[in-house]
Formats: sequence, C-alpha cells, structure tokens
Amino acid sequence: MDTISTEEKYFIPFFKKIPISIERGQGIYVWDENGEKYIDFTSGWGVTCLGHANPIIINAITEQSKKIIQNPSSGLTYSPARAKALSAISEILPGCLTRVFFSNSGAEANDAVIKLARKVTGRLNVISTINSFHGRTISTASATGQAKHRDKFNPNMPNYRFVPFNDIGALTKIMDENTAAVILEPIQGEGGVNISFGEYLKQVSDLCEKNGSYLIIDEVQTGFCRTGSMFAIDGMDIKVDFMTMAKGIAGGFPIGAFAVSEEIAEKIEIGDHGGTYCGNPLGCAVVHAVVRHLIDSDMSSNVKTIGSYTMKRLEKLKRKHPEKISDVRGKGLLIAIEFLEEKKAMEIYNGCIKNHLFVNITQGKIIRLFPALNITEAEMAEGLAIFEKVISDSN
Ligand code: PMP
Repeated sequence: MDTISTEEKYFIPFFKKIPISIERGQGIYVWDENGEKYIDFTSGWGVTCLGHANPIIINAITEQSKKIIQNPSSGLTYSPARAKALSAISEILPGCLTRVFFSNSGAEANDAVIKLARKVTGRLNVISTINSFHGRTISTASATGQAKHRDKFNPNMPNYRFVPFNDIGALTKIMDENTAAVILEPIQGEGGVNISFGEYLKQVSDLCEKNGSYLIIDEVQTGFCRTGSMFAIDGMDIKVDFMTMAKGIAGGFPIGAFAVSEEIAEKIEIGDHGGTYCGNPLGCAVVHAVVRHLIDSDMSSNVKTIGSYTMKRLEKLKRKHPEKISDVRGKGLLIAIEFLEEKKAMEIYNGCIKNHLFVNITQGKIIRLFPALNITEAEMAEGLAIFEKVISDSN
C-alpha cells in the first residue's frame, strides 16, 4: 500500500500536507519510509518533549497496558496510575491550584474550564485576546482571537470579547459585572510567540480579583518546561483560578488536564463535568512518567541552557540578515524567527524541509522552533546549521 496516495484518498483534507511519510523516530531524529533521516524541530507541535521513542514513555505504556488501560466504570473507580499522575502534577502546580481533572486534548481542557467558569460565576462573558489560540471545538474556536479559526463557523458561541494582548487598558475598559473569566496564554504560541510584558499578567490577575472574575491561564503550549520553567507563570505573583495543560504533559500520548483552585473546587458539583476517559490509567501512567522525569532530571536547566545558546545564534543570524529577518524572540525552547515577508518565510520553511529539517510556520511570516526539551547542544547546532545555511543561500 502506498501511504501518501492512500492518505490523499481517504484523509479529510484539512491540512496542506508535506509529501513525506514518517515511519519512525529516535530522539530529535525521524526517518521516512525510504530511510531518509530528518531533524524534528517541531516535536510534533510542542508535544514530544522527551524526543521520539523515549524508553521512559515506551516503558510506561508497556507496563500499564499489561495491567489495565481503562477502568471499570472509568472515573467512578479509583486508579493507582491516576493517583500517581495527580500527585506528580500537584508537586509542580502553582500554589493557588489544588485540584486536577483530565481531558483528551488542550481544546477539551479549555472547553471545560470555560463551561465551569460560567457555571460557578453565573456570568456569561469571557474575555480573550487578539491572536490567541485556544482550540478547535466550537467554544474554544469562538474563544480564539484569530478570525480565520472562527468566522467560517458562524454563529460562534456567544459572549466572547477580544482585547489586544499586553493591553491592560483595553481589558480594564471592557471588564464588567458580566465577565465570568479572562482566558490568556502567558506566551501566545500559535499567535507567533508573543511574550507577555513584565507586569501584564499580574495586572490582569489583580483586575480579575477586583471584578470577581476568574483568570484562566492556558499553558497548553507553554507548560511542562517548554519555556524554561515548569509553567510559564512560575514565580509570578498571580492568582490563577483555572489552568489548562496538554501537549508536553505526556510527551506524545494524547491527554490533557485542567487544574482549579480550592475556591472553584468547592463550587463544583457532581455531574458538572465528566467524560469517558477522564484520567484513563494508560494516559495517566504516561503523565506520571513524563512529569516525574521532567522534575527529577531538572529538565528546566537544559531548556534554559539550550534556549539561550539558540537565541545567541539566532540574534547573530538576524544581525547578518537584516534584509530578511525582522525579529527573533522566545523563551526557553519556544522560539520565533520573524521574517520581513511571508514569501521569504515560506521559502525558508520549504528550504528547511528540503534539507531535512522540520520547522513550523505560523502567522505567515514567523518560523517557530520548538524541539524536544532534552535536545543536546550538538543536536541543536546540527539543526541550526541547516537553518542558517538555508537562509544564507536564499536570495
Ligand atoms: N491552547 C493552546 C495555547 C494551544 O497552543 C493549543 C494547540 N496548539 C490548544 C490550546 C489546543 O490544543 P489541542 O490541539 O490539544 O486541542
């Protein structure tokens, strides 16, 4: 069977596909069906945080699947795998968050917390930011600050409002007694790696508290050491009421989660939420293994070291090519290179793939690098050398 023609025939064409069929991976490398080797600087869109085919994940899946994959009556019965995952996550959660529930994806986690914020406040409005991304369900697409993800599906879910990111004045103006929650990414990932300014999140948090609205922090892309700390909001003096997680939480196993404060937990009633999988033992075993490894191996240190090495090289590249690159920015291993023109960004993106390096393109002219978190300096250098050469060789 030919993979590409079969997918072309049967897969719903939501994606503009890359004509390469990946068969296997190891660490930051992947191989196609013809045995050609590539470097993966996308980690499957910020997911495979421990690299491909990591024995920690293989072992967790193998051992748990030999025991039990899905409990009788699912979440109604207790599970040692779930208890371990909960206890590992609780070690790393910001202090204000005490309770956790699981989802199957980031969108589902956001969907659930929006629903719960409305329920516990009895208010309807949710404020989001322009250029944000919160998912592709109808409610999270409606909460996403990019028209291309929303407008085709009108009518959207009602009562979403949008303000510019990093603009506390705009948020202050729009907040009122009908505001249930503000939903924010600490760094807008899909929006182009837009980093929140110093006091912005603190100001938003204070504003929410004053107004009796809840703050939802979406750490789906930034969580689990991606930006050099376990969560991007770590160390910030802010009151978070809901936090959503996915992607790196299980290194490629599809599972997400959300955490709430005790204050919210007390207002939640049986039946407010649920789901068939909701902390399935197989997913939880992987969550536990990945989170334990991130903590025990001090993954944050590696992310900070390799992240600053990468930024230095990219700053140099920008100085060398001011006619092509307008900005480089990022935190930890969530890094953006912004080009002056979309055409150039697309040419570099295609050039990278041709030279066996997978990078990501977002917002037309931004190339995003988000490799596995355990990448070594030598591996980063190998990929960056390709990236630099593609840029230098382009006219
Ligand atoms: N929130 C953020 C910040 C994201 O980056 C994403 C995915 N890119 C999502 C939510 C949606 O997650 P998922 O694709 O797992 O539904």
